[in-house]
Amino acid sequence: MYPDTQLFIDGAWCAGGGGKSSAVLNPATEEAIGCVAHASRDDLDRALAAADRAFRAWRRTPVFERYKLMRRAAALLRERAAEIGRVMTLEQGKPLAEAIAEAERGADAIEWFAEEARHAFGRLVPSKAPEIYQMVTPEPVGPVAAFTPWNFPINQAVRKISVALAVGCTVILKGPEETPASCAALVQVFADAGLPDGALNLVFGVPADISSYLIAHPVIRKISFTGSTAVGKHLAMLAGQHMKRVTMELGGHSPVLIFDDADLDAAINVLAQSKFRNAGQVCTSPTRFLVQSGIYDAFVEGFVAQARRVKVGSGLQPDTQMGPLANVRRKDAMRALVADAVAKKARVLTGGDSPNGADAPGYFFAPTVLADVPLDASIMNDEPFGPVVPIRRFDTRDEALSEANRLAYGLAGYVYTRSAANAARVAADLETGMICVNHHGLGLVELPFGGIKDSGYGSEGGIEAMENYVNHKMVSMLNL
Ligand code: NAD
Repeated sequence: MYPDTQLFIDGAWCAGGGGKSSAVLNPATEEAIGCVAHASRDDLDRALAAADRAFRAWRRTPVFERYKLMRRAAALLRERAAEIGRVMTLEQGKPLAEAIAEAERGADAIEWFAEEARHAFGRLVPSKAPEIYQMVTPEPVGPVAAFTPWNFPINQAVRKISVALAVGCTVILKGPEETPASCAALVQVFADAGLPDGALNLVFGVPADISSYLIAHPVIRKISFTGSTAVGKHLAMLAGQHMKRVTMELGGHSPVLIFDDADLDAAINVLAQSKFRNAGQVCTSPTRFLVQSGIYDAFVEGFVAQARRVKVGSGLQPDTQMGPLANVRRKDAMRALVADAVAKKARVLTGGDSPNGADAPGYFFAPTVLADVPLDASIMNDEPFGPVVPIRRFDTRDEALSEANRLAYGLAGYVYTRSAANAARVAADLETGMICVNHHGLGLVELPFGGIKDSGYGSEGGIEAMENYVNHKMVSMLNL
């Protein structure tokens, strides 16, 4: 039913050298369903040597060959999406349809980056002097250390792997220990497509031990991390000490501005869907709901009704719309955030704890709506990463913008209005890397994906993502 996960080093699956492993739990039942091997220092050294050796050949492999191989990997991922989706639901908890869609979208991402790398042109710059040719050529930065989390085990990994391999880099991926098997299935499709040994390696273990060793190692030329802001800042500091290129996709606390003139029903529908997707464990999840006074009561009433309709249950049940949280830390965090908000006089309009009773197994947490939440409540300041929605009232656009930009986070922002002037003003003034107006349209591989301020830097999508994995070499040549 659920496979144990090994390390993938230099083209072969293997147990960890020290014989260590950790258990994988099913978040819907809290039962151990398998285990994941931990890498020893020797395993990391083997992965580094393999990534280094493979890089010398892979960077010289014609981009058309890399493209064809990646297309094969994408086709295999699509073929296996149903099987991989089931594994993902068992280890992560999300509804099966979402897990399968994640694998299918992963195939789209592989294809998109493979195709885009074929257009990674250099340029010839006219010289001030005769007979001099000035060229700029993109070159892959080198072996990449990538660190990915448990909320989207395929999506987080596939973007880093695909862009790196497409431009000619090799990868050591430190996958998520809590959701390792679907990430391993992704690595397997590249191996089955014919990727040379060592070009992609997968390790697991104690995150801090692996990251401190890989980031400092001279073979590694680039770091890409997705996870919390606190960890991202620490890894960026380590990378800075060793002058390594960095992409950081970190936490968010996305404001949603809903104006009096919004299409209320559409806003409620879209926001309920996007908020409760993956039980709110999404870095771009709509978080601080700021609603203009004229429609505040109607919005709250409609949104609470939608939240109550969300079917919570095991991701394997066909009618489930929201599964459990992925681990006990998130469930504890939701309880603490709700208790703190209530102590500060917020009102719980629906939810507030596990829907099945506090002692029922599984990390389930009901879709929760909090109204009149004061700004000093933790949930208005710390990323909830769960299905809890704090709602506040505003009167003027300036007031809403000032609250939206109050925090150090700057990942995504959402606006609901029929006024072009409101939309344009908010799009211009919101301090976030991504903005959606009247719909939820981000996370697509062809578009830049990333934040500003404490939400990180560098993009995980669009042609901007490729920039982070190449150096631009200048060659100036006198024609003798
Ligand atoms: P955490 O901060 O301990 O871990 C977050 C991720 O970073 C995990 O994947 C973990 O394995 C990894 N990590 C932790 N320390 C590391 C280190 N020293 N070196 C390398 N990797 C390291 O917290 P958590 O309980 O797993 O997740 C909670 C918070 O993390 C959430 O509230 C959210 O803010 C953030 N998070 C963000 C994303 C995202 O998509 N941006 C994904 C998962 C978690």
